Amino acid sequence: MKNINELIAQIELENVGNSKIIDETALFNQKKVLDAFRENRVSSRHFAPTNGYGYDDQGRDMLAKLICSIFHTEAAIVSPLIANGTHALSLCLFGILRPGDTMLSVTGKPYDTLNEVIGGKGIGSLSDFGIKYTQTEYKDGKPDINEVKKVVNIYRPKLIFIQRSKGYLWQDALSVEEIGKFIAELRLFAPDTVVMVDNCYGEFTEKFEPSNAGADIIAGSMIKNIGGGLAPTGGYIAGKEQYVDLIARRLTAPSLGAEVGSYFAGYQSFFQGIFLAPSIVKNAMKGCMLASSLFSALGYETLPKGGEIPSDIICAIKFKSESELIEFCRGIQKASPIDSNAIPYPWDMPGYEHQVIMAAGTFVQGGSLELTADAPLKPPYIGYLQGGLTYEHVKLALADICDNMTRND
Ligand SMILES: *Cc1c(COP(=O)(O)O)cnc(C)c1O
Repeated sequence: MKNINELIAQIELENVGNSKIIDETALFNQKKVLDAFRENRVSSRHFAPTNGYGYDDQGRDMLAKLICSIFHTEAAIVSPLIANGTHALSLCLFGILRPGDTMLSVTGKPYDTLNEVIGGKGIGSLSDFGIKYTQTEYKDGKPDINEVKKVVNIYRPKLIFIQRSKGYLWQDALSVEEIGKFIAELRLFAPDTVVMVDNCYGEFTEKFEPSNAGADIIAGSMIKNIGGGLAPTGGYIAGKEQYVDLIARRLTAPSLGAEVGSYFAGYQSFFQGIFLAPSIVKNAMKGCMLASSLFSALGYETLPKGGEIPSDIICAIKFKSESELIEFCRGIQKASPIDSNAIPYPWDMPGYEHQVIMAAGTFVQGGSLELTADAPLKPPYIGYLQGGLTYEHVKLALADICDNMTRND
């Protein structure tokens, strides 16, 4: 077995071409973000905290404008009052769907935490409000357009749901091009259906976003890609004005919408995080590419495959046993800047079906643009590695972990 550092050096050489492509994407997105700041005349007064009702909260309103410019949408909500990605997605669904409507997921089972949002019993789920749900599965790694057509003809869904990233699936993330192609085909037989994209983990991994590819509404978490590792909490929603308005009325109250909501800690870290995000996402993508190449070289199955450009910031690795998976997560924790001495154990995390183990030695609790690893404890033992504020951190962590793993062999 070659020394791990030599192996990493060799992989870096092999990945030079793809690294350049990732650099180009980051440059493109950095320009898009910088232009958005300039066009909207963001100024330090937008950082100011507000309290109480938050009428005329300039920071809140400017964040929404900024996201509209970046994603090329009519309207947006960016708010620390949105607890996380699940909350943002749930708000979209409850904002748009009405009793008797049907939601159709075309990317199989949505992310775990949406299970109960959709089908929970007696907890105020969509199902409790008489909103129906159905799904179609992936075919050859993409939404199955023929199956979707059949289901649309039967159920006439009000909303079609697409998950961009892989989540906890052994599945490549969808590219924006694939999403665009699917939406264009869908429009031929479902012109009025609302198309919503779960954009979690996808932001800035490509030059364009699903909102550039025909999606009506997209949503995600501020403590993943778009927050640049600095946003302390929150979520965003962006898209057509008529839908964003309905969702804002669900976020606060039907009579108030986006006119209220204060934040006493101020908004600087949101603005600064969005500004840094294209570059931090670049680091995370390079880290992800290194991880997939390294584990492939060591004989593991990975997604994306070794040397491929990732289309989100997650590398899924199929481990050989539960203990190996747990060891891997503990290695990531040990290599973290925060709580490196903590030892993660599997636990019954709210919203998840199986026990989950999470390594998250992060500055922002659960912030997964930072180097983190997690996994549901079930065979086949797949670990999901994500993030990395700096490429160098990912490299150091992986070198350490792989060195230990290969020594134990
Ligand atoms: C993380 C994630 C979510 C949920 O986000 P939280 O912030 O953890 O609630 C939803 N969908 C996908 C694809 C995700 O990766």
